[in-house]
Amino acid sequence: MKVLVVNCGSSSLKYQVINSETEEVEAKGLCERIGIDGRLVYQPTGGEKETTEAPMPTHNEAIQMVLDALVNPKTGILKSLDEIEAIGHRVLHGGAKLTASCIIDDSVKAVIRECFDLGPLHNPANLMGIEACQKLMPGKPNVAVFDTSFHQTMPPKAYRYAIPTKYYDKYAIRKYGFHGTSHKFVSKETIKYLGLDPDNSKVIVAHLGNGASISAVLNGKCADTSMGLTPLEGLIMGTRSGDLDPAVLEYLCNHEKIDITEMLRILNKESGVFALSDNLGSDFRDLEDAMNEGNEAAGLAIDAFAYRVAKYIGSYVAAMNGVDAITFTGGIGENAGLVRGKVLSYLGYLGIQIDEEANKKRGETFVLSSADSKVKVIVLPTNEELAICRDTVELVTAAK
Ligand code: AMP
Repeated sequence: MKVLVVNCGSSSLKYQVINSETEEVEAKGLCERIGIDGRLVYQPTGGEKETTEAPMPTHNEAIQMVLDALVNPKTGILKSLDEIEAIGHRVLHGGAKLTASCIIDDSVKAVIRECFDLGPLHNPANLMGIEACQKLMPGKPNVAVFDTSFHQTMPPKAYRYAIPTKYYDKYAIRKYGFHGTSHKFVSKETIKYLGLDPDNSKVIVAHLGNGASISAVLNGKCADTSMGLTPLEGLIMGTRSGDLDPAVLEYLCNHEKIDITEMLRILNKESGVFALSDNLGSDFRDLEDAMNEGNEAAGLAIDAFAYRVAKYIGSYVAAMNGVDAITFTGGIGENAGLVRGKVLSYLGYLGIQIDEEANKKRGETFVLSSADSKVKVIVLPTNEELAICRDTVELVTAAK
């Protein structure tokens, strides 16, 4: 089955066509600057990358351009759109109601809409992408795969905040967690790769990218995760602060005369390693280079990032009363040996031994711990598009 996987942001859209039998990507690309001017990037596997500038006032025109590129007689990979049997959409927030991937109908769209408040940047764009596909490819099944759904198995002791219950009852204020598609894919693949017993396994997944989160996966199910009501909680990220004393917000709002919306913009966009490095940047390649040249702020940013990851790993070992495997994934987890080494330097008490030679590798699946390590540590590239494709095929096949 050929599946179109779509990931819509407010002004961008990433797409892939995946053949579910071979699990190979047949074409991929993105639309950028939707609502501004518009640019399509299209690349058939094994072919040249093409960039086309064209007006894209809405996601409708963007998806139409993607479909036109896919059936272009010269460079397209499809003879007709009929070859696409289903569309899988990444959706940020499914709230507490949508606890698994599902075929999209009006009731699913209503819940995605109800969650606009919880995912104000992503959920409206996700819905626009869904409606554009429904309009342009009528009759094809559309599947929603939520960033939040894998985390719905967390127990209340993990997801409840210790604030008055009326706020939970009235507004469903709780930890939801994000990057769930990645945590699910990577924890499952870790269990397979290491030959663990899916029903008796303790895995910690550290998804370290520009956005970063970590999860405790007990017997294949999420027991806890670091992001919260929104992706701001938890680890230090590229530009997000992660955990901090909430009283900082009142103090700064009062002293800097800024409102809470501006404060949250600062915590989301101007904080994290970007801030700790004195605004040098949020890309770990730049930070590492600067640190090697003696820049102390860049060194602090990397140290603080790794320290926070190590502290979360320690707390999740406690949450699961042990750990069989720790997996690094995401742009930093897959590529930055320096960061992995710093994180693991705190975890010797778990009997973790690192294979320094293996830690030089990047961007592939490999075992990072040495043969005598008590806990296995691996690197495993995430593949959220493939995970979305797999869920889409499973649901569409079952519905036939
Ligand atoms: P992601 O959000 O998962 O795509 O991760 C993006 C981040 O991965 C970038 O901002 C970099 O900080 C980091 N990254 C990518 N490649 C490397 C590399 N070779 N070395 C260090 N960090 C990297």
